[in-house]
Amino acid sequence: MRLVLLGAPGSGKGTQADVIKTKLSVPHISTGDLLRAAVKAGTQLGLKAKAVMEAGQLVSDDIVLGMLEERLTQPDAAAGFILDGYPRNLAQCTALETLLKRLERPIEVAIQLDVPSELIVERIATRAAVQGRQDDTPETVRERLRVYAQQTEPVAGYFAQEGKLKVVDGVGELGEITQRVLAALSR
Ligand code: ADP
Repeated sequence: MRLVLLGAPGSGKGTQADVIKTKLSVPHISTGDLLRAAVKAGTQLGLKAKAVMEAGQLVSDDIVLGMLEERLTQPDAAAGFILDGYPRNLAQCTALETLLKRLERPIEVAIQLDVPSELIVERIATRAAVQGRQDDTPETVRERLRVYAQQTEPVAGYFAQEGKLKVVDGVGELGEITQRVLAALSR
């Protein structure tokens, strides 16, 4: 199964992907995690990405695409994957389509986790307290939500047009939401 998970920062994409990857036996590929690993490792790419991420803005499309291709061509992704955090704007939609066409592995379905914005702000505040992520400060969160509304929301429309979008209610208990996602996948 080749799946894209869509949803605002804090909508629970990462949490759900971690559960669903086991059920589907495919890797969870998060561009946010890949970038954080690069920052931590202090690679050239990581150094470039760090300041951009801390400002809540998007890392350049070229950098993210190169990193993603490297990950998607690893053997474990041959069985499929759950993509989380990509595509994040319309240019990335086109880049992904071109890349996956070349690899002969198109996206089969996009799941959008639907969570109201009041709840998003609350969840990120909780996560900030628990995980201490560098980009979970109030100003950065505001910027990430602004970037999301402006650049990432249109991505759902892109997959809807392709007939691949399924919207799932992302409010409720973790297990309940997982069941909704699995039900949407089997429809
Ligand atoms: P969240 O979904 O909670 O915002 P992520 O872990 O997905 O968190 O992403 C954290 C940061 O990493 C983003 O704010 C952005 O700076 C960078 N990033 C992640 N994915 C992409 C992407 N596809 N394109 C550009 N930047 C990205």
